[in-house]
Amino acid sequence: MNLGHFSLIFAKATLVDPDDPDLRGHRAVNGGGFVHRAELVDVLAAKARELGVEIRYDAGVTGFDADADGVAVHVGDERIRAGWLVGCDGARSVVRRLVGADFPGVDPEQLSYQAIVDIDGELPDGDMTETGFYMHGEMPQGGLLVGCTEFVSELPYRDEPVTAEELEASLRRVSGREVTVTALHHGSRYSDTTRQAAEYRHGRVLLAGDAAHVHPPFGGQGMNLGIGDAVNLGWKLAATIRGTAPDGLLDTYQEERHPAGKWVQDWTMAQVALLRPDPRSRALRAVMREMLDTVDATTYVVKHIAGVWRSSLVRDVDLGDGSRLAERCRDGRGLLVGDPELVGLATKYGLIFVEGDEPLLVRPDGVVAWAGDGDPAAAVSRWFSHSIE
Ligand SMILES: Cc1cc2nc3c(=O)[nH]c(=O)nc-3n(C[C@H](O)[C@H](O)[C@H](O)COP(=O)(O)OP(=O)(O)OC[C@H]3O[C@@H](n4cnc5c(N)ncnc54)[C@H](O)[C@@H]3O)c2cc1C
Repeated sequence: MNLGHFSLIFAKATLVDPDDPDLRGHRAVNGGGFVHRAELVDVLAAKARELGVEIRYDAGVTGFDADADGVAVHVGDERIRAGWLVGCDGARSVVRRLVGADFPGVDPEQLSYQAIVDIDGELPDGDMTETGFYMHGEMPQGGLLVGCTEFVSELPYRDEPVTAEELEASLRRVSGREVTVTALHHGSRYSDTTRQAAEYRHGRVLLAGDAAHVHPPFGGQGMNLGIGDAVNLGWKLAATIRGTAPDGLLDTYQEERHPAGKWVQDWTMAQVALLRPDPRSRALRAVMREMLDTVDATTYVVKHIAGVWRSSLVRDVDLGDGSRLAERCRDGRGLLVGDPELVGLATKYGLIFVEGDEPLLVRPDGVVAWAGDGDPAAAVSRWFSHSIE
């Protein structure tokens, strides 16, 4: 079994150090598996509706007017007044463009296709060639799932739908095989464009997910990064709207999430470099392949993919009172574990209190804000307001 890959060099589960302190008991190495995006979207949408959120699928945002008190969002002729606008409208974000966000980065050198097709002709399972690389596999419901990437000097297409002819030409250039795409059931294009908004907050307008950062998809980090943005921003924005946020809380979104996005960008760009067809890159790739045959390198890569290498996220532990930590955090409040004398502090700041021998302050997004034997008061007032008396 593989636990992910670095530049399509797979990390074997058998080579992960089972005693690594960051990975021991972690789900990435302990029965973790694939989650289908559509299923995840259903779960998130159901939760949002349960909390009273109205989801509108027919509402393309075309503009907005922001002032000191809020935002008027344009949806066609309609104007929706809101206190805040979070642009999570994907890689080509209208919100990012209209707010005038600086979006510096690196231009693409790869053009990739992902498609479900029928083909005529012999095509080996996959290969890295002088122009790119490809792979394919049978879909359970029929058809062939094909991934094909070419190194290019510029992107020839952008908005038009993928055609069978275009994909066929790319497959032929990369594979050197005279294959014919006889049917295209689904086709999408993507590139390795790597850009990040310099600022995630512009007054009352914020950016999250692909609207804030785009990068190559290698390693499956993009959606995870966006969910990390949402979890980090959600409770801070809620506290700001309720008037219970300590000074500067919302600005910590940029401080914490911009570096996370930058790290994923570097991690994925390094993988593009290792896929280049020139002799030096191929030599470097061979070195990396040898390294990924060792326990140390595989453990390192899996820890980075799983996001546990310098994570401050708390583990879901048994709290010793019959409940688990994740269950207790579900209502979005912070949680203080410690000696009974801390009950007063927890109550003052609206925190859940759990008596325990290992003192811990957990933010609503699961980040450990403090742990140890000292006084947690400073950490509590840094992240929470005592307006709940
Ligand atoms: C081939 C490939 C494989 C990938 N595999 C993985 C993986 O395994 N794991 C992983 O974590 N990530 C993966 N990713 C990355 C992942 O798909 C993206 O990072 C993720 O979808 C970004 O989510 P998002 O919500 O920010 O943006 P999007 O998914 O793009 O969603 C944006 C939403 O905003 C809507 N929208 C756009 N404009 C407007 C507007 N003007 N008004 C209103 N709504 C608007 C869109 O309709 C869409 O619903 C992959 C990407 C690619 C290309």
